[in-house]
Amino acid sequence: MTNSAQDFPQGMVWLVGAGPGDPELLTRKAERLIAAADVIFYDALVGSGVLDLAPRGVRMVPVGKRSGRHSKDQPSIDRLLFEAALSGLRVVRLKGGDPAIFGRANEELSACRAAGVAVKICPGITAASAAAASIGNSLTLRGLARKLTFVTAHTRAGVALALDWNALADPDATTAIYMGKASAAEVAAQMMAAGLPGSTPALMVESASLPEERIVRTRLDLLGLTVHATASDGPALLLIGQAMGARTDGVTQPAALAEAGAVGGSITLP
Ligand code: SAH
Repeated sequence: MTNSAQDFPQGMVWLVGAGPGDPELLTRKAERLIAAADVIFYDALVGSGVLDLAPRGVRMVPVGKRSGRHSKDQPSIDRLLFEAALSGLRVVRLKGGDPAIFGRANEELSACRAAGVAVKICPGITAASAAAASIGNSLTLRGLARKLTFVTAHTRAGVALALDWNALADPDATTAIYMGKASAAEVAAQMMAAGLPGSTPALMVESASLPEERIVRTRLDLLGLTVHATASDGPALLLIGQAMGARTDGVTQPAALAEAGAVGGSITLP
């Protein structure tokens, strides 16, 4: 096993996946890098239990971005990282989930490399995997979901969502939508316009892996309303597809799943 003297010299930056929130869902490598850091720049979505793992004396710098409330713009964050490294510090950049998924990792990697700073990624558990664990169901399903799509529905204010709706309306796929709360109604309408039935099972998983986790089960034609009526402040992942209505009591044949009405319409709140 590698130790930090070997892979985390002074003047280096690690982009570390913090996972979905529960500190037990960190990798052992992430935990080791956090313990060895001199300074940690962290996102708003990094769980407090993860931040608590940082040893005393480590400089903790929030650079969090939540929709509409940008505390630092991306170029400023990039600069903070390589400047800290150039001053001889061991730098951890803690990012929610997996750094390589909707995490602006390339901006940070490029900025560090351009400054001559060594930089690497430590992967983390992405929100979709955490949500699957929360709902106790597989994201893929033999015969029903051969394809898994991760898509972000985040868009700048006033800019229309430009997604490939025909591809997203694939009835044999599961679609995991990141940053999709605000545009849930539009996403659902477009997927239905592209041919996906309104009865397709849909789920919202908020704050997956955290004590405040909530799961809301609905169907595609009710998704916008449901999200609007039930969403709270936490991060939320939307999951859409036949596999999301799969029963895990041994009944998995498509016929049983087709009557997704069994799932559809019911909103299950804790
Ligand atoms: N790199 C992260 C994604 C960053 S984008 C990852 O791999 O998970 C931020 C979006 O991720 C949020 O808007 C939400 O859609 C999703 N997300 C992050 N943490 C989550 C959690 N604990 N529960 C549900 N969704 C989460």
